[in-house]
Amino acid sequence: MHEISLVKNIFGSLDTVYDQEQREKIETIHLTVGLLANVEPILMENAFEAVVATERQEYKDCQLLMQILPIKVYCSDCDSESEIENYKFVCTHCGKPNNNVIQGNELLISGVDIK
Ligand SMILES: [Zn+2]
Repeated sequence: MHEISLVKNIFGSLDTVYDQEQREKIETIHLTVGLLANVEPILMENAFEAVVATERQEYKDCQLLMQILPIKVYCSDCDSESEIENYKFVCTHCGKPNNNVIQGNELLISGVDIK
């Protein structure tokens, strides 16, 4: 379950920005997750709860909010972007196969709310 290490990495990133006292005041962690980032939101939430309960109790009142980003490709033939549906990697304008992904691999902390 690689979500456990992802959650630990998120907390590790926050450690570099916030001290213990500030971390206890974090109410919400906002994550931006691309559809290609190989992250299951449910597993992510379970991992978050498990890590908080076992080693990160300063986050016990904190929630994780995930914003899922769709996959987008750029087609140089028609100079346009397409949103990929059902993992069908084609340009929706000209119909050509396309794997020039410009969005969808993201996994980042997009913000935190502090009390
Ligand atoms: Zn095209």
